[in-house]
Amino acid sequence: MKAAVLHGPRDLRIETLADPLPGPDEVVVSVLVAGLCGTDHRIWTGERPVAYPRVMGHEFVARVDGVGPGVDRVRPGDRVAVEPNYSCGRCPLCREGNRNLCLQRTAVGIDVDGGFAERVRVPARCCWPAPAGVADEDLALVEPLGVVVRAVDRGAPRPGETAAVLGGGTLGLLALQVLRARGARTMIVGRTARRFALARELGAEAVHALDEGPLEDAARRFSGREGVDLVVETAGTAAAVEHALALVRPGGRVILTGLPHEPTAVSFFTVVRREITIAGSMIYQDEFPEAMRLVASGAVRTRPLVTHRFTLDALSEAFAAHREPASIKVAIVPGKVA
Ligand SMILES: [Zn+2]
Ligand SMILES: [Zn+2]
Repeated sequence: MKAAVLHGPRDLRIETLADPLPGPDEVVVSVLVAGLCGTDHRIWTGERPVAYPRVMGHEFVARVDGVGPGVDRVRPGDRVAVEPNYSCGRCPLCREGNRNLCLQRTAVGIDVDGGFAERVRVPARCCWPAPAGVADEDLALVEPLGVVVRAVDRGAPRPGETAAVLGGGTLGLLALQVLRARGARTMIVGRTARRFALARELGAEAVHALDEGPLEDAARRFSGREGVDLVVETAGTAAAVEHALALVRPGGRVILTGLPHEPTAVSFFTVVRREITIAGSMIYQDEFPEAMRLVASGAVRTRPLVTHRFTLDALSEAFAAHREPASIKVAIVPGKVA
């Protein structure tokens, strides 16, 4: 099979590898569409080191080719969204259902080979059957959507509440739509106004660029009170927590998903004084079926976010396209001939 193998920073080679075979409780899937994201880009540049050689790709929808002994969750021919993280299943965190927090978590496309290939071997428990009647490409964003479904639901939005999403990238534009599906009126806050027309089209009731004036004022104008009820942060900047605290009302909730590794300067005085609830949200637990339900029902539209498509042979060009200003989500279609 054909695979894009990373041998070192920016050293990506299209190679023919032996077809993977499923072991016990494993399946081999053919990749239909894979998404490329910032994590892949950081691995590609070497900023996030991995053990080489490595096949990247952790966002993909696929068709089951073969199943190993003991697999009854899926059958050959099934179309599945692959959850690209699996935990040890034995530690106290896993046993209590917090498998996303397991200290021995394995990430497909990072710790083991992933979806920038024609075929991938994954544990059967990573496979979530996809609904019929939804195009492959529309399911390409199920993994980031799973991240966002968990983040939004940890914020427990109630119908009629106001929310702000920090960040106008893939996660932000998905969070906007999930919040809307939950009945919240939502404002998008972005670094620039670049994505605002699309955000409006996807249901944003207000938009605000960081250089357009104080966030407090924008949040008050939009909410008609002291600030928004809920902030979902997807921006991944060190200033994001400060921005979230500027937007949220006293007694409100802030959910963080995209925080970078750098420390952030936050006045915790305001957190106490205004009784703000701040919670992190880490990938997903069982959110894949809900993510796919939202896509199938039309509540979340993923297609307008896919701005570029490449074959596996053109993966290096795909990485360049990921950094273009017009790019939101770059999709890789391994089965397509160049
Ligand atoms: Zn990703
Ligand atoms: Zn565990």
